[in-house]
Amino acid sequence: MTRRNHDIAELRRLDVAHHLPAQSSYKLQRDIGGSRIIVRAEGSTIYDGDGNAILDGMAGLWCVDVGYGRAELAEVAREQMLELPFYNTFFRTATPPPIALATKLAGLLGGELQHIFFNSSGSESNDTVFRLVRTYWDIKGEPQRKTFISRRNAYHGSTVASASLGGMSYMHVQGDLPIPGVEHVMQPYWFGDGFGEDPVAFGARAAQDIEDRILAIGPEKIAAFIGEPVQGAGGVIIPPDGYWQQVEAICRKYGILLVLDEVICGFGRLGEWFGFQKFGVTPDIVSMAKGLSSGYLPISATAVSRAIVETLRSVDDDFVHGYTYSGHPVAAAVALRNLEIIEREQLVDRVRSDVGPYFAAALARLAAHPLVGEARSLGLIGAVEIVAEKGTNRRFGGREGMAGPMVRDACIAGGLMVRAVRDSIVMCPPFIITHEEIDRMVAIIAAALDQVAETLR
Ligand code: PLP
Repeated sequence: MTRRNHDIAELRRLDVAHHLPAQSSYKLQRDIGGSRIIVRAEGSTIYDGDGNAILDGMAGLWCVDVGYGRAELAEVAREQMLELPFYNTFFRTATPPPIALATKLAGLLGGELQHIFFNSSGSESNDTVFRLVRTYWDIKGEPQRKTFISRRNAYHGSTVASASLGGMSYMHVQGDLPIPGVEHVMQPYWFGDGFGEDPVAFGARAAQDIEDRILAIGPEKIAAFIGEPVQGAGGVIIPPDGYWQQVEAICRKYGILLVLDEVICGFGRLGEWFGFQKFGVTPDIVSMAKGLSSGYLPISATAVSRAIVETLRSVDDDFVHGYTYSGHPVAAAVALRNLEIIEREQLVDRVRSDVGPYFAAALARLAAHPLVGEARSLGLIGAVEIVAEKGTNRRFGGREGMAGPMVRDACIAGGLMVRAVRDSIVMCPPFIITHEEIDRMVAIIAAALDQVAETLR
């Protein structure tokens, strides 16, 4: 492969002049003279324009599960582009790749989740959920069931409906969200909201908050509950034991649809193919994206139960929803091959019984650091909570979000890409990460914590 030479100074200048990056302060982008430019990647390592090799502790954006540089994914895309680069799936049309991918997903999901609607992003998948669930209840003759229940600090995307479903208050203030019909309840964030309480009792309290809200609104008005098995962007929040069983029981008690947003957790992140399998619950609808194609091309999927599809099939009307790129043949072909790689290389087993436990043991070493209040992980996703005083959840400066970004910046400068969520350092490396790379991740974080401790003390 020929490596292109980039004029990084010029790219950064043009970035400020013309490019608005996602989820960014445009003032800061301008003040620092342009974005960080990543020019290539291989395995679990990304390379920036200044020649720095950075270990990617975030798998891109929680998505490059099979790692970078998979030539066979590029070859599949090339072949499909030459044969049929595009055709749509509107008005009862299809192409071979989305049918093959839907069949594959139905097999992996198992049970009643046998029907797949394709979109291009996690946000779009959750928009599909929004319209599909309301349409379902209309057809069932219960049109008053309009309300979605979600958790505060949940992340379900950035479009109007998905950001409304999400519980990020800082997103809601832009664009006057949430739209009507979305209610936010407690999240099962023990370290932040239940510290000092028995974790299982705290989880039960968080689940009870859902039931209390259902009863306050009226169960006959509730359409669905949506949640991430493990909240990712909210700070890798792993619910206490028993939480998901209680949530499922509450949904069943009131006939409410259970929607799991598996956009991060799906395809092996937690050491099972899906988070719902890890937690032993049976959702009616599942959103998937990211790991579906390991981020090589944009594609997402909304899996729907047989019962829901039977309802949709009880009327003649079209489900008047869909995107130009629903079931895009190239993206679907790449996703299918990506799933084949995960199977062939037994990457889900690798997360469950090899790198997942190794990662947990490495994080347990970090837990001894004086600035670490908790180090938690499940499979290959984890977080480290930074505190001002060990044994408490007290934060530096008496407020959330001061130390986290400092530690993150020190990690990046030290050669590790991680994210800061308030005062948590969150990690989500590719499934192919090696033991040596995990050791390096933890060593860089420990050094960053030492450095920040010097500054803050
Ligand atoms: N749902 C979850 C759980 C996510 O983590 C994300 C993205 O991080 C989304 C939905 C939105 O996906 P996208 O950015 O592809 O629209």
